[in-house]
Amino acid sequence: MILVLVDHDLGELDPLSLRAITAARKLSADVQGVVIGATSEASSKLAYVVGEHGASVLHVAQHEGLTDYTPAASGRALAQLVEKLKPEAVLAAGSPRGNEQLAHLATLLDLPMAAECSVISLSKSPGVPHSVTRARWAANLLEEAFVHSDLLIATVLAFSVEAEPVPGSSAATVENFQPSLEPSDLIVRVMGRGGESSKGGVTLADAKVIVSGGRGVGGPEGFAQLEELAGLLGGAVGCSRVVTSAGWRPHAEQVGQTGTKVAPDLYIAAGISGAMQHIAGCKNSKTIVVINTDPEAPILAYADYAIIGDLHKVIPALTSAIKEMKG
Ligand SMILES: Cc1cc2nc3c(=O)[nH]c(=O)nc-3n(C[C@H](O)[C@H](O)[C@H](O)COP(=O)(O)OP(=O)(O)OC[C@H]3O[C@@H](n4cnc5c(N)ncnc54)[C@H](O)[C@@H]3O)c2cc1C
Repeated sequence: MILVLVDHDLGELDPLSLRAITAARKLSADVQGVVIGATSEASSKLAYVVGEHGASVLHVAQHEGLTDYTPAASGRALAQLVEKLKPEAVLAAGSPRGNEQLAHLATLLDLPMAAECSVISLSKSPGVPHSVTRARWAANLLEEAFVHSDLLIATVLAFSVEAEPVPGSSAATVENFQPSLEPSDLIVRVMGRGGESSKGGVTLADAKVIVSGGRGVGGPEGFAQLEELAGLLGGAVGCSRVVTSAGWRPHAEQVGQTGTKVAPDLYIAAGISGAMQHIAGCKNSKTIVVINTDPEAPILAYADYAIIGDLHKVIPALTSAIKEMKG
């Protein structure tokens, strides 16, 4: 059996978890999920979706301290579930949160963990290592590695697998369990939230269109034009790290190695040079449109379409053309 951590934010499923379930299904017919820190109502909804994707059971960790993201507590709860269920592997999404929670699990069990694997081959013989291909250095290097442990603990590289529903499947059976947590497990926890990115309810992770701005936008006020275009296209606003470091936009909107990894149908990169740490977050986009004054900008190597020009002229022109088309 393969156990998959079903990650969520206050009950909102991280869609990368469904990709991790699909990756698990390719390795075993017996896949079960585990959700930590979700309400009963949210867990029932999650059981439906993970069941549709092929997980037969959803284990739900219930504890008064588990009300929001608490990575060390997740590690402890997972370790106790592993002890009880004895899975062949524990997988999670290769997101910062998935990596962090499984790192806690691996530390508690004193086992290795392979982060951000694009290929996983599970050993079926004791003593023979598992083999994985891992993305390193912002996915600029693919490393083939062996994992020497009976239990494989690994995260699935974001967007390396498509989430595939299983036709005819039904909701996963919910099984509650009560982990026993130490006070120290709850020291790292969410104290507050700010800087939500989605004005129209579209988040970076699920946006089909992202209009992203970099240093070339020139300042926080310049993003009004990007917001208008994103709104017209039913999309979300993203940005580079220069922008979040300058405080022009919240970190929740940062795309890249240390931000969110995205894969929209359309990614418009305006005033972004194309540093490898930014490309690591957007290169899975289906179509990339670049707007840049510099015809030599590195990001042009990733562009499907490029407009060489000043974004402060190009974006309003695009916006008015779309408005005209929409009548
Ligand atoms: C460990 C580490 C992690 C990192 N993580 C991330 C990350 O997650 N995400 C990320 O984005 N970066 C990340 N970075 C930073 C990254 O290396 C770059 O510094 C950053 O992406 C550059 O941002 P930028 O493209 O907005 O700015 P710049 O590189 O300064 O590029 C600005 C671009 O705007 C163009 N331009 C200027 N004016 C206009 C105009 N009027 N119209 C059109 N184009 C214009 C310029 O030609 C230029 O190409 C990380 C760096 C490190 C070391």
